[in-house]
Amino acid sequence: MNKKRFGEFGGQFVPELLIPALRELETEFSSATQDSRFLNRLAYLNEHYAGRPTPLHFAERLTKHFKKARIYLKREDLLHTGAHKINNSLGQLLLAKRMGKKRVIAETGAGQHGVATATAAALLGIQCEVYMGKKDVQRQQLNVYRMKTLGARVHEVDSGSQTLKDAINEAFRDYASSFHDTHYVIGSALGPHPYPAMVKYFQSIIGTEAKQQIQKREGRLPDYLVACVGGGSNAIGLFAPFIRHSSVQLIGVEAGGKGIRTGQHAARLGGPGKKGILHGSLSYVLQDKNGQIQKTHSVSAGLDYPAIGPEHAYLHATGRARYESVTDTQALNGFRLLAQTEGIIPALESAHAIAYLSRLMPKTKKSETVIVNLSGRGDKDVAQLSAREEEKK
Ligand SMILES: *Cc1c(COP(=O)(O)O)cnc(C)c1O
Repeated sequence: MNKKRFGEFGGQFVPELLIPALRELETEFSSATQDSRFLNRLAYLNEHYAGRPTPLHFAERLTKHFKKARIYLKREDLLHTGAHKINNSLGQLLLAKRMGKKRVIAETGAGQHGVATATAAALLGIQCEVYMGKKDVQRQQLNVYRMKTLGARVHEVDSGSQTLKDAINEAFRDYASSFHDTHYVIGSALGPHPYPAMVKYFQSIIGTEAKQQIQKREGRLPDYLVACVGGGSNAIGLFAPFIRHSSVQLIGVEAGGKGIRTGQHAARLGGPGKKGILHGSLSYVLQDKNGQIQKTHSVSAGLDYPAIGPEHAYLHATGRARYESVTDTQALNGFRLLAQTEGIIPALESAHAIAYLSRLMPKTKKSETVIVNLSGRGDKDVAQLSAREEEKK
């Protein structure tokens, strides 16, 4: 298989002037991953700064609730900054430093990737600027304040829909003219090659740990893996070391929003997405019949993106993984279910994976095991949800 492609998906669909930047990144990434000093430094920061390994928690009361397969939770919510995003930001910031870059840029939707990147930049002493849609700036004031406190500059993007997709466009524009001294830290397993492969590499630590942990606890591989899918980085990170084990069923959960039939959702694979190119790679994209990118909706900002990482498109096309969707309402039920059975308030994104258990569990056997990736914690969501409940009163 062409290393730039996952089957027909992926590639490098970018303007000519970005090619040298991507070539430099590819060369540096491949030499860094063979350099024991780089790998030791990354392992050190993962352990002593981010808080790895994260626990694999046996969810006893959640298991009793369904009375079927045993459910384990991979606790990425316990990491510094509250989500799996830090795994990727630390890796890419170390790479930026190795390349001698003085500045990093990032895009952010809800602000989680912006915060993780601003955090890693502060730690390593690199200047950081974050592009964020104007609408998201208004919706996510707390994360804007966090990024500024960490010393980052936040650029409001007021083009297009003023959300994540437009922030990525602006970040690429900046990168095209600044890559001699700037690295662009993409926050999910998407974009042109080598980004999807690189982000997968840094996030694979989730699956590598989970595989060792479940082997130790159960003495065998799990039967099901469940993860929510925005761009796809937490899911591909969990799936990575299990892809070659065909007995392990891989399930990605997309945002069903207000329901697929309403058109207000972000279900690219489980819904009406078609093949198309967005942000430098070929994948499935929500678009109208003229190829215009469609507006998406989800209660969770982190899943609200019109395309999906190219390797997920490939896993879907080959049938190796299955993609399902969960509505806003079901996700909110999952949110409360986990809080009240396990004492863990999940991020709304992760609550989609929990909510899917209501459909999956009845089909499982008591002798089987399921691992759900808890990609982040819900602190960032509680203000939005309590305001929503007040409105309804
Ligand atoms: C950003 C985010 C996601 C979605 O991004 P992926 O790249 O699909 O993992 C999911 N969960 C949390 C907590 C996030 O912050």
